[in-house]
Amino acid sequence: MSSVSLPPRARVVVIGGGVIGTSIAYHFAHLGWTDTVLVERDQLTSGTTWHAAGLMVTFGSMSETSTELRRYTRDLYERLEAETGLATGFAPVGFIEVAGDEDRLEEYRRVSAFNRHCGVDVHEITPREIAELFPIADVTDLLAGFYVERDGRVNPVDCTMSMAKGARQLGVTICEGVSVERVLTERGRVCGVRTNHGDIECEFVVNCGGMWARQLGERNGVNIPNQAAEHYYLITEQVPGIGRDWPVLEDPARHGYYREEVGGLMIGLFEPVCAPWNVGEIPAGASFLDLAPDWDRMGPYVERAMSRVPISFEVGIKKFFCGPESFTPDLAPVVGPAPEIDNYFVCAGLNSIGILTGGGWGRVVAQWVTSGDPGVDVTGVHIDRLHDYQRNPEYRATRTVESLGMVYQCHYPGRSMTTARGAKRSPIHHRLVDQRACFKDVSGWEGADWYAPDGVVPEVGELTWGRPHYFDVWASEHRACREGVILMDMSFMTKFAVEGRDAGRVLERISANRVDGAPNTITYTQWLNERGTIEADLTVTKLDDERFFVVASDTAHRHALTWLRRAIAAGDHRAHVADVTSAWAQINLQGPRSRDLLRSLTHADVTDAALPYRGVADIDIGFARVRCIRITYLGELGYELYVPTEHAVHVYDRIVAVGADHGLRHAGLKALASLRMEKAYRDYGHDIDNTDSVLAAGLGFAVDLDKPDGFVGRDAVVAAKSAGPLTQRLVQVLLLEPDALLFHGEVVYGDGRPRGYLRAASYGHSLGGAVGLAMIDLGSPVTQAALDAMAWEVEVADRLLPARLSIRPLYDPTNARIIG
Ligand SMILES: Cc1cc2nc3c(=O)[nH]c(=O)nc-3n(C[C@H](O)[C@H](O)[C@H](O)COP(=O)(O)OP(=O)(O)OC[C@H]3O[C@@H](n4cnc5c(N)ncnc54)[C@H](O)[C@@H]3O)c2cc1C
Repeated sequence: MSSVSLPPRARVVVIGGGVIGTSIAYHFAHLGWTDTVLVERDQLTSGTTWHAAGLMVTFGSMSETSTELRRYTRDLYERLEAETGLATGFAPVGFIEVAGDEDRLEEYRRVSAFNRHCGVDVHEITPREIAELFPIADVTDLLAGFYVERDGRVNPVDCTMSMAKGARQLGVTICEGVSVERVLTERGRVCGVRTNHGDIECEFVVNCGGMWARQLGERNGVNIPNQAAEHYYLITEQVPGIGRDWPVLEDPARHGYYREEVGGLMIGLFEPVCAPWNVGEIPAGASFLDLAPDWDRMGPYVERAMSRVPISFEVGIKKFFCGPESFTPDLAPVVGPAPEIDNYFVCAGLNSIGILTGGGWGRVVAQWVTSGDPGVDVTGVHIDRLHDYQRNPEYRATRTVESLGMVYQCHYPGRSMTTARGAKRSPIHHRLVDQRACFKDVSGWEGADWYAPDGVVPEVGELTWGRPHYFDVWASEHRACREGVILMDMSFMTKFAVEGRDAGRVLERISANRVDGAPNTITYTQWLNERGTIEADLTVTKLDDERFFVVASDTAHRHALTWLRRAIAAGDHRAHVADVTSAWAQINLQGPRSRDLLRSLTHADVTDAALPYRGVADIDIGFARVRCIRITYLGELGYELYVPTEHAVHVYDRIVAVGADHGLRHAGLKALASLRMEKAYRDYGHDIDNTDSVLAAGLGFAVDLDKPDGFVGRDAVVAAKSAGPLTQRLVQVLLLEPDALLFHGEVVYGDGRPRGYLRAASYGHSLGGAVGLAMIDLGSPVTQAALDAMAWEVEVADRLLPARLSIRPLYDPTNARIIG
């Protein structure tokens, strides 16, 4: 045993002394949790942090959370020296993103509008202005640059050390040379850590183990599917005249970023096809790594990147550096409480932006652990969005090849991951292939996006900011649902069987709506936290007093399951939940002619009287028994058929055979998006999230404040109601110009002032224009009269387009088509 002396106990142990762990420890201290111990296997920064290029950039993300974290991080690095006495090396030299083609220009104009709305002071500059700021860049082919004066660069080691000093000053213990071997648990809850120098008792751990996080997680069955990959920059010999105060330049189309480094030029690379590093196991003793570069693989990318600054060819390369950084399957970090073990938090898989978001993640995670509230939208980064299969070596090796390169791709709408496909398939997948479906990745499932008619290839084809080549096909699927009947496979939906004597009680307790009423009824509801903001958005079907069926979206799978399991455990309820997602296919029949089709398929009585809206019945179709639920997410008369997986092909074949006489069409997820958006139906993680109160989300109609035993979050909802009318609310936005498209992040202006942005959007083929949902902040009550009294515009790239805003859905506001 060495001389390291560990504290026997702490409130929280932070594992890993990179920028992330150190920032979290620093922020714990500032929140008063000074009884924090940070343990680092080797020395602080010895993992990935030490060799980062130190770009500190606030521009570029279409996520409000990420942009906010970047801004916070930049401010923190700017002010830290005054607090700790240690400089962070932050130099606000500025940052320029360049666009050399029309598609990039469109993207960066969209991003800059969104970023400006989020407080980033970015503006478009001309190629001449780029050349003035970065004279050695070749700007001859450039169209524009996007310049943030206050961004710049930071020294990753110095900012980590400065945060470490700040943490120590407030009482945090930092132990270097101490490796956590496993996290200790008792009855599914963290109770300590076992290190190579003994145990520390604790209530919480935060695994910030960087590229080692997955291995450490695995020892406790915690799923952290990040994967290290080679990551490069080069440093040239001295470049005459280069200025230390020149901005950081970034040219994603040429895979490179550029900045001064000790009189030479640093050129960093994000190659489009990358190389995972050590898929099997990251060596436990690897520190301050400087890997042998793969010149053969990288050569063409290096050459292309250097061509932006031609002098780099003349001066020569001094150092070609390769270090490993960890990437995740969807290029978002892995953050938050692990579903597998209570009080086990994770912050890892930073996808090459750990320095420039590190300050922010420290703040968020520390707040999350200490209060239970992350304070920002975490739906896109939450650890529970990820699934066990994603840590399979073959999956990681295959997906990581694509993920690093995504950083610098043009982020066209409708792009789907192309690697590691086919991992999950609906039981009727092959039938949909026969129907010429074009598939996309839906949480690992192959989801039919649209169906190619004869003569059209079922491929996405060239990506574009304009109308995709299948726009008319999509429109016809949309119309088929509005006018006839469509079949839509949604077998990827999450399904739980909740059973037992207390099943109704526990579901009633966590649901804001009344879900334990009459049997054979489906109820739309939210699950709220104590703050009254939304944790899940789903349906609960009561089958009988002790049997319930819960259906949520694919992305909510593990979050909803964990929420439910923890609620059952907390109340000591006699109930259990089984994840039956794989047991049931979900085939939707939707549209005004769906009842006629159903009637031809079954002997069961499906009249309005026997099977009203929200009704549930077990019906016969062919040789199978099918759970038929009359409900819609598309805004028409319709039925969700839950079919035992083994019967799915048989039932599907019967529907298609009988459907021929009813004009049945197949419709894909493109149509789902446009149909639901016309009805303003919410999609958790896209247009509503964990920061939204159920009232601001416009879902007050699904809240039952009169339930006898209340529900989790009720007090917060009551308090919000009594505070007066909402000044912030999710509303529908319809563009009045039919040709323009909306995707996400477009800023909405009321009377010339920014009031919010589009959280999600699609094209309303029935409404005749792009349509989406935006959280609008008026500062005064958001009523329809107030909306109507204002002039509305949406900023689409560099154009302001007139729009109409509505609180009620613009399509069928009275639900006549659904109920009638
Ligand atoms: C070439 C390159 C350039 C980059 N440039 C930038 C940039 O310009 N801007 C930017 O924002 N990001 C950049 N990054 C990314 C950035 O470096 C990372 O995102 C960041 O450093 C990750 O920090 P971390 O704390 O998660 O991981 P790490 O720095 O790897 O820290 C994890 C720590 O955990 C310790 N540890 C692991 N297991 C255990 C255990 N069992 N017990 C105790 N300790 C353990 C490790 O020793 C390590 O110190 C770059 C990365 C590379 C490779």
